[in-house]
Amino acid sequence: MRILGIESSCDETGVALVDASGSGVPRLLGHALHSQIEMHQAYGGVVPELASRDHIRRVLPLTDAVLEQAGLPLSAVDAVAHTRGPGLAGALLVGSGVACALGMALGKPVIGVHHLEGHLLSPFLSADPPAFPFVALLVSGGHTQLMRVDGVGRYELLGETIDDAAGEAFDKSAKLLGLGYPGGPALSRLAQSGDGKAYAFPRPLLHSGDLDFSFAGLKTAVLTQVKRLAHAAPEGPATAHLADPLSAQQKADVAASVQAAIVDVLVKKALAALQATGLRRLVVAGGVGANALLRQELNAACQRRGVRVHYPELHLCTDNGAMIALAAGLRAQAGLLPPVVDAASSYRFDVRPRWPLAELAALSTVGA
Ligand code: ATP
Ligand code: MG
Ligand code: FE
Repeated sequence: MRILGIESSCDETGVALVDASGSGVPRLLGHALHSQIEMHQAYGGVVPELASRDHIRRVLPLTDAVLEQAGLPLSAVDAVAHTRGPGLAGALLVGSGVACALGMALGKPVIGVHHLEGHLLSPFLSADPPAFPFVALLVSGGHTQLMRVDGVGRYELLGETIDDAAGEAFDKSAKLLGLGYPGGPALSRLAQSGDGKAYAFPRPLLHSGDLDFSFAGLKTAVLTQVKRLAHAAPEGPATAHLADPLSAQQKADVAASVQAAIVDVLVKKALAALQATGLRRLVVAGGVGANALLRQELNAACQRRGVRVHYPELHLCTDNGAMIALAAGLRAQAGLLPPVVDAASSYRFDVRPRWPLAELAALSTVGA
């Protein structure tokens, strides 16, 4: 079964084709991605209407590119998967609309995929795929969750952020340092030349005894620190950007200290989740999973405890179509898609901008 996957939940248009025949891990036959980051940069964040319009422009050319990579015609596609949610409503509707149109043209079913299930399962496309059960640390731009995963569709939430996500903490701190949007990768690059112990930023909920996170206070602490340094600077605080008066070293030290605080909390809570569940396998997914310090610290901590850690390939940490096609493929293989009696009943053109993973039914939307 060849599944075309379309991701359009936010500011990346991703398309991919996987082969989910047999029982082996679905194989990636082609994938293409267009990031809208440059377009949104001028606004300091994602502008939803611009995002939707750009998805419309990109999705079919990307689909052509994927089919060309795979050396297959569109008629070789057996099902079309798309991100049904969570995400920006208008952006999701583009993926859903195109998936339904392609499905209708081909007479093939459409599968609505949960974006976080895509992130969660993305390490299955790596050279070292995990095995069930495992603890998942999902750290993205909008979510920070620890889950117990016993199989495809069997997810138990162990803890999550009560306010900002880890990626948001990276992005907001980066903005305070004048690093642009999205600042996570830029902040971690700058941190390489800084001292992570320079400033003692808070580690919220580190000893809360549960598996929840909180990152909103960190942003305030960074703001206070940047202001303090700016006021103490020789030329004073009145410049275009709050962080302008800081020396390059001060900025790098703030970046390194923020990163250290976020990574510290993520590592300790992931270890606590492993301990609480008694599991010996950890899967990291989502954009922040690309962070080098996080990988380094998790690898070291897990090695000491005899725990295996799995990550998605670096380029599949952030949003992409491959994880959407993969999640649909794994669901199909696990028998979690109802038999297609009538493909037309799956052309629903419905999206779920807010969709807790806990509400994800074992059965997907195909003909349901
Ligand atoms: P969600 O999946 O929760 O809806 P999203 O799709 O926006 O949110 P992702 O695409 O998974 O999130 O990840 C984007 C986030 O990852 C951004 O916040 C970005 O700053 C962060 N990020 C990416 N690379 C790195 C890195 N190397 N270090 C830290 N953060 C990073
Ligand atoms: Mg993105
Ligand atoms: Fe995402």
